[in-house]
Parts: sequence; structure tokens; C-alpha cells
Amino acid sequence: MIVYLLSMKKSFPNKKHLFFRQQLLRWKINHPRPLPWKEDKNPYYIWLSEIILQQTRVEQGLPYFLKFKTTFPRIQDLAKASEDEVFKMWQGLGYYTRARNLHATAKLISSKWNGQFPNTYEDILALPGVGPYTAAAIASFAYQLPKVVVDGNVIRVISRFYGIDLPVDKAEGKNQIQVLAEQTLDKEQPDVFNQAIMDFGALHCKPKNPLCTSCFHQKECIAFQNGNPTNYPVKSRRLKKKTRFFNYLVIRYKDQVGLQKRTKKDIWQNLYEFPVIESTKPLDATTIKENPFWINHLVSNQAELIACSKGYKQTLSHQNIIAHFFEIEIKKPFDENNTPFFVVEQKKLPKFAIPKIIDCFLKDKSLYLF
Ligand code: SF4
Repeated sequence: MIVYLLSMKKSFPNKKHLFFRQQLLRWKINHPRPLPWKEDKNPYYIWLSEIILQQTRVEQGLPYFLKFKTTFPRIQDLAKASEDEVFKMWQGLGYYTRARNLHATAKLISSKWNGQFPNTYEDILALPGVGPYTAAAIASFAYQLPKVVVDGNVIRVISRFYGIDLPVDKAEGKNQIQVLAEQTLDKEQPDVFNQAIMDFGALHCKPKNPLCTSCFHQKECIAFQNGNPTNYPVKSRRLKKKTRFFNYLVIRYKDQVGLQKRTKKDIWQNLYEFPVIESTKPLDATTIKENPFWINHLVSNQAELIACSKGYKQTLSHQNIIAHFFEIEIKKPFDENNTPFFVVEQKKLPKFAIPKIIDCFLKDKSLYLF
């Protein structure tokens, strides 16, 4: 096995690439990382795991992968599920566009490809929600096609080892990383090499505390030789996140509560939530009661504001959400013809796919137990 992994390849372009590749493959032999989607080469399971692991840590994504695999053992099973079912199973993972694309792709493969996962890089790349990284991962792991993966781990490892000073969030820097990644790829075992470089970035050449003192790359690693590994990868700018305040109205009448579906093109599209008033700063009891929503939909129901929760924060890639929950009881029953939301029994709340921030509030309040 070792002889096979480290065998010399005629196509090696230079000594530095050769050193980098061989050391990585040797490191991988000593650092196996068994994961259930690696057990066989089923492209459906590999794709499923890759979509789940976009912006999600392995430890967090693993139970979701197992749940999807058990519930939908074949891609046709996933295609037949309803969107609400898929969203409910996805709940807690965030970035729901992934769930939407997952479902759309399953339907597409079932209808257009007769349930057979496409087996060329170009066809895989054309699937909804699949970018160059995910396509390369599926192509190399499922079909051993010579495609290199370039994710955040790979960018970090290569930019440090080769001392890339160009910003990796600009085209020139991205291109340089891509070219180097392709030159270092072991084309005869792309799956093993890709897993090795990603695992090395995740476990050894880590973002904040790289294990440089025990690293076999020390002598060749430019960032280490310059004494500043954590200055890499170089970035041109840091995104300034905007903060949005969601003031949720938890409106109750006896054992019923108001709920609505987020239909607009925005975060959490098609998930369910309590009626919400969005603002650019936190609202209090007075400003809530002055809001048109309260005046138009709650005054006539003799609403009483019972409590306001602490702030709940959820950090997304481009924005922070801070949610407060205003608990309201109404004395007259809901008139669904005159409300912009629908009404459900509180005990049925767990059936709805909801954003994580609302889930946290409900768990804190034990509202699921009503
Ligand atoms: S020496 Fe440090 S920065 Fe360089 S590859 Fe090793 S862990 Fe990463």
C-alpha cells in the first residue's frame, strides 16, 4: 500500500511539488479518518455528504448524513419526498438553499438521468448547487477522475506552503492556487490525494494554531520559514456584516398560535416562523404596540403583551440576526380571514421546519411541551 501510494510518477513537474505530494500521502497513511460516506464509492452518498458539509463541520453534519441515508436510501426516494419533509430533516443545519438544491437535484437525476448519478465532471458541475469544488470532490471520490478539490483547507495549505502573497479572494490569487493545486495532484489516485490535503488542512495546518513544530513541511514551507503562517491565506478585505433585528410575535389564543411561511427571496425561504416585524434596531413594548401590525391585527382581538424574551443571536455568512420574542395573548379568537398568518395548535409546532433561532427560543421556553 505504502509503495503504491508513494510510487514515483513521471508527470511530476518539479521537486517542490513532489516533496509536497509525497509528504502529504505519507501523512495520510498515518492519519486515517473513517467516515461513512467513504465506505463505498456510491456517488449519491458522496454528493449527499458534500452538500451537507458545505459550510458545516463534519461532527455536526454526520448525524444529518446518516438520517438522510436511512430515510432516503436511493436518490429516487429523496426525489419523492415533499419539500417540507426535506426542510424538516435539514432543520438545524442552516443555509437552506442547500436543502432546496438537494431536493431539486434529486428530482432532476430521477427524471433526466433515470436515477443514475452523472459520471462526467461537466455533467456533475451542471447540477443545481454544485460548484467546482463539489464537482471535483464527487468526480474524484466516486469515479477517480483527475480533478483536484480546492476548498478553504486546500487554499490555506497551499498558500502557506508556497507563500502565496496574492489575495486569495481575487481572481489572480485564486488562479495561482488552482494551478498549484492541479500541479500537485496525484492523478493516479486523485481520491486519496484530495482527502489527504483536505484532512491535513483540517487537522494539522489549522487556521489559528497550525501544528508547525511537528510538521514535516517545515523546511519547505515558505510561511513557516518567514515566521508568519497565520498571515496566510492573504485576503483583500473582510466583509462587514449587517445586523438585522427580528421581532417575533408569539401570538396565542388558548392552545393555538399564529405561524407564517417565509415566502420572499431572503434567508430561510420556505421555512416557518412566528409573525415578524423586522427593524434596524431593537424594539420594546411601546414601539411594538405602535407598530401597524399591532394596530391592524391585534388591537381588535384585545391583545395583551405578556413578556419579551432576551435577545437570540444567529450569525450567518453575510449578516447577523438578533431575535426577540414578544409573547402575546389575545382574548378574542383568531379571525384567519383578517390575519396575514395562519393558526396551528401549539402541540403541532414540531412538525414545521423552522429557523434555528426560533428552535432555540422554543427549547428554552419548553414550548414544544405544551
Ligand atoms: S509548517 Fe506550519 S504552516 Fe507550513 S504546512 Fe506545516 S503546519 Fe502548515
